[in-house]
Amino acid sequence: MKNNHPFVVGITGGIGSGKSTAAKFFEELGIPVYNSDTRAKLIQNENSEVKAKIIAAFGEEAYDENGLNKAYLSKQVFQDNEKLKVLNSIVHPAVFKDFEAWKIAQQTPIVMKEAAILIESGSYKDCDMVISVMVDIEKRIARTMERDGLTREDILARINHQITDEERIAKSDVIIDNNSDLAHLKNEVEQALMNIKKKMASH
Ligand code: ATP
Repeated sequence: MKNNHPFVVGITGGIGSGKSTAAKFFEELGIPVYNSDTRAKLIQNENSEVKAKIIAAFGEEAYDENGLNKAYLSKQVFQDNEKLKVLNSIVHPAVFKDFEAWKIAQQTPIVMKEAAILIESGSYKDCDMVISVMVDIEKRIARTMERDGLTREDILARINHQITDEERIAKSDVIIDNNSDLAHLKNEVEQALMNIKKKMASH
């Protein structure tokens, strides 16, 4: 731990790759995991400065009686890159700040940041190491269909919206293969943790 700053490992992967499942295994091994998607949602619902900026940019419809109107906002930004940039420019700095405070509060030598868009958001640059979870496309589709009840077309549309596995590999230090069963994934996580510790020692 340098000056109270833990070693930060980012974990990412495409839709249905198993990054949350892998992150849970890391947690079982004692690594605290920051879930960027969950925290971003919380921030958008509870941080009054962020809320005010979202309403100013997207209108009152951005919130309803249940809080953030995700369906409305997603529709606004899914096909409009400029609007997506606006939303990101509000949410990403707030998540960055939140993560900085969280990582110090953990008081552990290693922390993990889980994010679907770790690479797209640029936040991989703040990580000491990047892990990508990889699964062949047909397995990702099958697992996501089973988990979310989405159609094959829905999932393909999302996959085509994300960066490619090749782009992920180019920015990753470690690749976790999740093509097999959960016991295999657990083993991959244990191997990755050994790699993390090695890299940390030479850091
Ligand atoms: P998203 O970005 O879409 O939220 P994710 O990368 O976090 O997805 P998970 O939710 O961890 O992916 O995994 C996707 C689905 O596949 C889940 O239902 C999970 O239980 C299942 N799954 C993950 N790994 C395996 C595995 N090795 N064998 C069988 N099912 C798996």
